[in-house]
Amino acid sequence: MTGTAGASGDWTNWAGSARCHPARRVSPRSEDELVQQVRDACSTGQPLRVAGNGHSFAPLVSTDSTLVDLHEYADVIAVDPAAMTVTVQAGAPLWRINAELDRYGLAIENMGSINVQTAAGLVSTGTHGSGTRYGCLSSQIASMRLVTGRGELVECSATSEPDVFSAARLGLGALGVISTITFRCVPAFSLSLEERTEPFARFIERLPEHVESIDHPVFFSPMWSDQVHIRAMSRTTAPLRPPSRWQAWRDHYLAGHAGLQGVLWAHRRGAALVPFASKVLTRRPLRSFVDVSHRIFTFPQRVRVVSMEYAVPLEALRQVLQELRRVLPSSGEVVSLPLEIRVASGNDIPLSPAYGRPTGYVNLATDAYSPHDKIYQVAGRVLSDFDGRPHWAKLHSHTASSLAPRYPRWNDVQRIRQSLDPKGILINPYLERVLTGTA
Ligand SMILES: Cc1cc2nc3c(=O)[nH]c(=O)nc-3n(C[C@H](O)[C@H](O)[C@H](O)COP(=O)(O)OP(=O)(O)OC[C@H]3O[C@@H](n4cnc5c(N)ncnc54)[C@H](O)[C@@H]3O)c2cc1C
Repeated sequence: MTGTAGASGDWTNWAGSARCHPARRVSPRSEDELVQQVRDACSTGQPLRVAGNGHSFAPLVSTDSTLVDLHEYADVIAVDPAAMTVTVQAGAPLWRINAELDRYGLAIENMGSINVQTAAGLVSTGTHGSGTRYGCLSSQIASMRLVTGRGELVECSATSEPDVFSAARLGLGALGVISTITFRCVPAFSLSLEERTEPFARFIERLPEHVESIDHPVFFSPMWSDQVHIRAMSRTTAPLRPPSRWQAWRDHYLAGHAGLQGVLWAHRRGAALVPFASKVLTRRPLRSFVDVSHRIFTFPQRVRVVSMEYAVPLEALRQVLQELRRVLPSSGEVVSLPLEIRVASGNDIPLSPAYGRPTGYVNLATDAYSPHDKIYQVAGRVLSDFDGRPHWAKLHSHTASSLAPRYPRWNDVQRIRQSLDPKGILINPYLERVLTGTA
């Protein structure tokens, strides 16, 4: 588990952007033990937070009270090939779920770009991949078992406790402690990966066509270059043509790890070096592969960055990108990494940034060790002005009062949350800022 306590007992997230010193740290091995931990917190009134794999940039997990980590409660419980579902313990990492589903000829329909998050961590922040016909991981949940802040175990789905289910699919760990999740699956499928580049003006012109024609598009737009890199992932029945070991090493470790480290090193030495370093150090041929879906969707990412990401209405995406390209270079800080642009279908999950509208996601990653406040301020203003909703796992400066008007069902969530956790034992200071509005 990322951020496992050192001798000091501190917990740190993957990016190093959140740190805490929990008074107690517990690792339940069964649902009974998990329930008992929540009941103990209820009876003492001491707050409790649950950690996944620490891959959120925001201090969602941080607590100075009890920290529950789930690395001992991380198995795949059952795969049901007839119902096409998989049931997992909350701490199960995505890579383990994918491996188990491979054995049954099943797959998760869509996912983000890494596979190390836990099942509960993934859904609790609205982790998403890309594709206008596909939703975030939370939208793929069929049912879940949840321990409420009252210490009660609730089984919920669209037909059983539907209000709780609706909200707790993306609950930030504030709507209960998830014990198990049952995901809907699809028959296993292959993806072709085709990479190409396009000048920014042409890309903007063709954006609607791209997002319609590519099943899972990801676009990378560097501020210092006119070329947009297009990563087109499409469903295919063509025979597998995976990368060789050398190609995988070259792409993920040489260009993706060492090269990227070099770019960030150059960044710390001066803005002028970034375009040169990027072109030389991360250079590799445009790729064209066919592989099992999750091996195309996800890849290793080890370079420590911090990140801000917003969900904007899809129809505003073109304007948002043009505006960011206009204002970001004048922020006074270097934007060395490309904007990453993805899309998703709308959904009915009250706290989902994609609630009720087809969505464009814009992600801005920056060096964790260089100043980025101004970049985030400038980009955050643009994205917020276009009715953007920040990704819950990432960095932003919103508070509950500025977020509430962006979510039509905000008050419903507050009502459900209060009924599930009347004493607020699942709330930490960060959630007070962004959710309960009492900080
Ligand atoms: C390199 C990198 C790449 C990423 N790529 C993507 C991407 O492609 N798409 C995307 O959308 N996001 C992406 N993210 C963000 C990441 O998917 C989310 O931060 C995700 O929540 C991390 O899962 P985790 O298991 O590490 O959970 P954590 O970050 O540890 O926790 C996340 C939240 O889940 C809660 N939680 C954990 N377990 C439980 C439980 N049992 N019950 C209730 N609540 C619980 C925590 O309290 C916390 O609020 C990326 C992050 C990194 C660092």
